[in-house]
Formats: sequence, C-alpha cells, structure tokens
Amino acid sequence: MNVYDSARMADVLAPLGYASADSAEDADMVILNTCHIREKAAEKVFSELGRLKKLQAAKALAGGRMILAVAGCVAQAEGEEILRRAPFVDIVLGPQTYHRLPEMVAQAARAGGAVLDTEFPAEPKFDFLPEARAEGSSAFLSVQEGCDKFCTFCVVPYTRGAEYSRPAAAILAEARALAGQGVREVTLLGQNVNGWHGEEGWGLGRLIRTLADLGGIERIRYTTSHPRDLDDDLIAAHADIPQLMPFLHLPVQSGSDRILSAMNRGHDRADYLRLVERLKRAQPDLALSSDFITGFPGETDADFADTMALVREVGFVQTYSFKYSPRPGTPAALMPNQVPETVKEERLAQVQALLLDQTTAFNRSCVGREMRVLLDRPGRHPGQLVGRSPYMQPVHVKAADHLLGTVVSLRITAVHPNSLAAVPA
Ligand code: SAH
Ligand code: SF4
Repeated sequence: MNVYDSARMADVLAPLGYASADSAEDADMVILNTCHIREKAAEKVFSELGRLKKLQAAKALAGGRMILAVAGCVAQAEGEEILRRAPFVDIVLGPQTYHRLPEMVAQAARAGGAVLDTEFPAEPKFDFLPEARAEGSSAFLSVQEGCDKFCTFCVVPYTRGAEYSRPAAAILAEARALAGQGVREVTLLGQNVNGWHGEEGWGLGRLIRTLADLGGIERIRYTTSHPRDLDDDLIAAHADIPQLMPFLHLPVQSGSDRILSAMNRGHDRADYLRLVERLKRAQPDLALSSDFITGFPGETDADFADTMALVREVGFVQTYSFKYSPRPGTPAALMPNQVPETVKEERLAQVQALLLDQTTAFNRSCVGREMRVLLDRPGRHPGQLVGRSPYMQPVHVKAADHLLGTVVSLRITAVHPNSLAAVPA
C-alpha cells in the first residue's frame, strides 16, 4: 500500500516539476513514507530523520533548500510528536491527504514553520489524483482502504480510518489506463481488499471478472484479504477466471481459538481450515501465504503449538511472521498478560524455521514444472530477464529484450536461495 501511495505522490508532484531522484543526497524534497504497524518500523522514522537533517543542513550551507516531509501512518499517529522531536521537518501529512501535497509544498516554500495535515477529509483523495503512471508491466491498483475490523493488536483502523471502497467505474478506468500503458498484471490493493464493495451487487468477485474481460490484463491478484470476507463469488472466481493467479495471501495470525478470539479476528481455526479446503477445491493449484504473530498477550505454549500444527496442516509457500508489538491505543497493548520478549523471539524462530522449510520444499517441487512467467525486468547479466511466476517467485531466464513485459511459458530448471532458474518451455 505504501509503495502504491508513494507512486501516487510522485504523480501528484510531477506537474510541479518534481521527478524522482536516485538518492536523498542533493534532493530538493525528501518524503519519508512511513509505517506504524510495529514499533520497530515507527522508530526507524526518527533515526532516518536524524540522517536527513544532516543532508538538509549541508544543502542549506550550499545555498539550497531541502524540503523534508513525513507521510504515511507514523505521520498520522504521531504528527505532533514528529514536529516536537524533529522541528526541521517542513511537512507532516497522513495517508488520506497526499492529494493536497502541491498546496502543502507551496505553503512550506513560502512560510517559516511546519505544515501539518493529518485530517480524514470527507472527500476521498482518489477523486483528486491524476491518472496513474505505470512503471513496468505489473502495477498496484488501490481499490479499498481503511478497516473497521479492530483486531485488538492493530493500529490500521486508527491510522487509515474507516473502510472505504472506491467505485467500480473509477477502478475500471484506472485499470484501462494502466493496460494502455503496457501493464499486464494488476494487484488489487486494500487493507481488507475482499471487503471491497462497489455499487449495489458489486463485490470483489464481480470486479475481478470485469477486469478479466477488459482485455489486456493477463494476470490479476488481490491483497490483503481477511478470512471473514471471502465470499462464495470470490471463491468461485478462483475456479472460473484463468487470469486470477492461483496464489492467495490469507493471514491467519494464530492457530489457537483462544488467541484468535482475544485478537477479535471473528473466525476460529476450523473456519480457516474450511475456507482453505473450499479454495483448494475451486482451484487445485492454489498456493497460500500468510501472516503470523508470535507472543500475543496470553499466548501459552499450548496456543503456540496450535499455530505450529496449523502451519503443518495447511502448508504455506511464503509467509511473513512477526513478534507481537504492543501498539499505543490498541486494546491488546493494555492486556495484563504480556509475553516476555525472549519467549516471543523463541517462538518466532521456531515458526520461521518451519515456514522456511515449507517455502524451500515448495520451491524444489517447482523444478521440472512448466510455468507462465511475466518477464518484468532486465536481469543483472546482459541477455537475461527476470520475471515472476504465478506464485510470485522471481524467475531468471536467458531471453531476448523484446520479451520484456510479456508472459511466456518457461520450464523451471533449478532453485537458488531466493529465485528460480528456467529455460523456454
Ligand atoms: N488486514 C490484514 C493485515 C494488515 S497488517 C489482515 O487482517 O490480515 C499486516 C500484518 O502485520 C498483519 O497480518 C499482522 O500479522 C502484522 N501486525 C499487525 N499489527 C501487529 C502488531 N501489533 N504486532 C505484530 N505484528 C502485527
Ligand atoms: Fe488490522 Fe487487518 Fe485486523 Fe484490520 S483486519 S484491524 S487491518 S489486522
């Protein structure tokens, strides 16, 4: 989501004459687009600001000016704190106000003193953004933002605000524009992407069907989905729509019913397993990835064993796992039974080892298989291209440059630590 937002900020600033710089060194403006999901990500902002302060001072000494902006969810949650701890910051803006960047930049250029805009405006920013510019053959397309689910560990409902779905017509127009610029793969984005609903009768399944019929878009993905909102039509889409990739990120967080309930996830372990079974019936090639949290308050050895058992039962091909991080203002941060850091770490190491085994086994099982790969960037060596398999694995192949931006059939020949090697099928 932040990658998408950063690209849109660049789109908004392009008419003012700004273009992306390769480094912050001599830039006229630096925007830190920040994440508040865990403490580590949020703290990084302040250390990064310390580094940028020096560049800003060097630029001033040379007679120039570097405008420094902090955007994203840390700005939303800690705007005042940023201005207090880092008074050299010129602009602080939340994730819902970046369409107003040109005004903020003009104001910052004119005035002394910082500009702070962390409102949740009534008008959605999407109505004010220019047409998206594609970079390459794969693009993100934001369809839904915000969250009303209030999982007890999570800051998103507070930083991104209430659930909002973009209208279908606006999404389809953006998809057409992207396809016209050579985009072959679209990843629909949302904090709860499958909670997306358009006008009467439009759910994510119907949106995906319509995108598939537009022509030009050969591959469709969506992320991040919540197990509670995966409806029959979306499951059917996995069976019917060849463009919909057989790979789904479906975070479960924990395998323990007690913990799922304390997290307010709104489903239990059996619901999740049933869902996986239905999805695999619809699309037998489907592979799953997931998110896990270790050491949520009150998590016992038995709860954690349930998580390990669920991982073994489902089998994931790619995963993200985190130590529980207490976030200010969330109910779980106030729960009395916090788990010691060492226990969180030990459990994280255990689950990560198991997940890595599963990823490695899956990658090995791909050798000899034929896969459709979207070649989306040049390789490090001349005559080599790199693409993505349906399962998001990077794939290296010797191929002519004119194949860049196309989907080709490849046979996987070898597994490297972070990628696959292939030859034309
Ligand atoms: N909407 C998605 C997740 C968005 S946040 C969902 O409901 O699944 C992305 C991931 O960050 C979460 O899946 C969770 O695993 C992790 N995360 C969120 N808050 C966290 C916290 N306080 N501590 C540790 N991990 C957290
Ligand atoms: Fe956070 Fe996802 Fe829960 Fe929403 S559904 S509160 S984004 S973890």
